[in-house]
Amino acid sequence: MKRTFLLALATTALFGFTNPQSTSLSYEVATKNASVISSETLKDYLTFIAADALMGRDTPSPGLDAAANFIAFNLKTWGAKPAGDNGTYFQNIQLEREYLNKTSTRIIAGDVTLSLGKDFMVNARKFVSGRVAGPLETITKKSDQYDVRGKIVLLGASLGSEIDQIVKSGALAVIISADSSSQTLYQNEPGLRPATGPAVDAPMPTPIITASINSFQRLTSLSDTKALITLATNRDIQMTRNVVAIAEGSDSKLKAEYVAVGAHYDHVGFDPNLPGPDKIYNGADDDGSGTVSVMNIAKAFLTSSARPKRSMLFVWHCGEEKGLWGSDYYNSHLTVPKGSIVAQLNIDMIGRSRKAGDTDPRNKSLTGPNAVYVIGTTMMSTRLGEIVHAVNGKYLKLDYDKLYDDPKDPNQFFYRSDHYNYAKNGIPICFWFDGEHEDYHQVGDEVSKIDFTKMERIARTVYLTGVTVANEPVRPSVDKKLGR
Ligand SMILES: [Zn+2]
Repeated sequence: MKRTFLLALATTALFGFTNPQSTSLSYEVATKNASVISSETLKDYLTFIAADALMGRDTPSPGLDAAANFIAFNLKTWGAKPAGDNGTYFQNIQLEREYLNKTSTRIIAGDVTLSLGKDFMVNARKFVSGRVAGPLETITKKSDQYDVRGKIVLLGASLGSEIDQIVKSGALAVIISADSSSQTLYQNEPGLRPATGPAVDAPMPTPIITASINSFQRLTSLSDTKALITLATNRDIQMTRNVVAIAEGSDSKLKAEYVAVGAHYDHVGFDPNLPGPDKIYNGADDDGSGTVSVMNIAKAFLTSSARPKRSMLFVWHCGEEKGLWGSDYYNSHLTVPKGSIVAQLNIDMIGRSRKAGDTDPRNKSLTGPNAVYVIGTTMMSTRLGEIVHAVNGKYLKLDYDKLYDDPKDPNQFFYRSDHYNYAKNGIPICFWFDGEHEDYHQVGDEVSKIDFTKMERIARTVYLTGVTVANEPVRPSVDKKLGR
C-alpha cells in the first residue's frame, strides 16, 4: 500500500510534466496516419474559407479575421501549442497609412486660397506634415542657374525636367502647372502598409505640387507675394495577423528545432464595380487550397499519439497578395528562436487540375490531376531536394514537375510566394504549386472547380515530407548559393 503510493508519487514527479504524446512517429505509422488528411475534410474547411461570406479575405478585412478565427478555433480543438503573441495563436501586425487631410492642406497667397484635390495635388508617394512660407517666384525659361533660395517657385508645365535642379538650388517648394491634356487633378491616396516601426516625425521634404492651369495662372499674377503652403496628414491604423501554432516533437533535444509548413490565408477581396453578378474573389485555389491543406496537415500531426523528433511550426500568413507582408513580418519577428527553423514547406495553389482535352491557352501551364510543380528543390539544399523527391518516389508517385525549379525561370515563381522570405533568412524551402489557370485572380476561383482528390494526394505527400524532414538525424544544410 505504502510502497505503491510512493511509487505513484515518484511516477508523477518524473513524468507529470512531459508531453503525453511523446512517442516517436515512424515513417510507416505516418503513412497510415496520413489518412487523417482527406478530400472530405479539405472540402469541409474550404467551403468555409472560400465562402462568399468572407468576401475574398482581403488584408485587412473582417472576412480575413473570420478565417483566422476559424483556423485558431480548430487548432485549439486539436490541442495545438499557440505560437503567436502572448500565448495566443495570433501574431498581430500593425498596418498604417498616412494621407493628406483635404480640409487643412492649403495654399494661401494674397486673397487666393487653393484646396487640395480641386485646385492642386501633392506629388509624393509618402506624405509628411509641415508648412513653408516664402515669396512666389515664376520661372518661365530653362537656365543654368536658378536664384530661388527661400522662394516658392512657379514652374511652367514644359519645365518639369528642371524640378530637381530647382530643389537643389534651395527652393522651399515647387508648384508646376498641369499641362493642357490633364483636365482633372488626381490626388493619389497611399494604401495601408505594415508599420515600419515607431512613428518618427521626419522632416517634410520639399513639396512638389501640381496646380490646375487656372490656379497656376492665379498664382503667377501674384508674383513676389508671400505664399503659405500647409500640408496636413492623417494616419489610419488597422491591425491584421498571422496565425501560428506548434506541434511539439518527441525528441527531448531535437524538439527545439522546427519544420515549418505554411500557406497564405488571404486573397484579393471583392470589387463592387465588376460588371457581372459575381463581385467576390473567393480564392478557393489561391490560397484557400493551401490554407486548408496546412490545417489538415496540422490536424494529422496534432491528433496523433506519436510525433516526429523535431517540432512542427504551422504559419498561416496574411497579406501575401499585397506583397508577402505576413511572411516578411514573420521572418523579421520570429516567434521561435532564430536559427531553429530547419526547413519551410510552402503550399500556394494545389487545388486545380487541367482536364484532358482542355485547349484553353489560359490553362496551358496548369498541371494535370496527378502533377504539381515543385520549386526550390534544386536551388538551396541538396539534402532537402533529395528528401522531397524520395518521399514522393516511394509514396504516391505524383508527377513532380521541375519546370520552374530554377532561379532563372522567367516567371520568377520562386520569388512570388511566402517561402521566399524564409529562403532569404537562410532557411531551405520547397514550394508546391499547381500552375496558373483561367481563374487565377478571377472571381471564378471557386470551390466548385477544385479537384479535392488531387489536393488530398499532395497534402498527404507534404505531410510525409514534413515527417521525414522532422525525423532527419541532421538538419538539411544550405549548400547552394541563392541568386537570380
Ligand atoms: Zn497565392
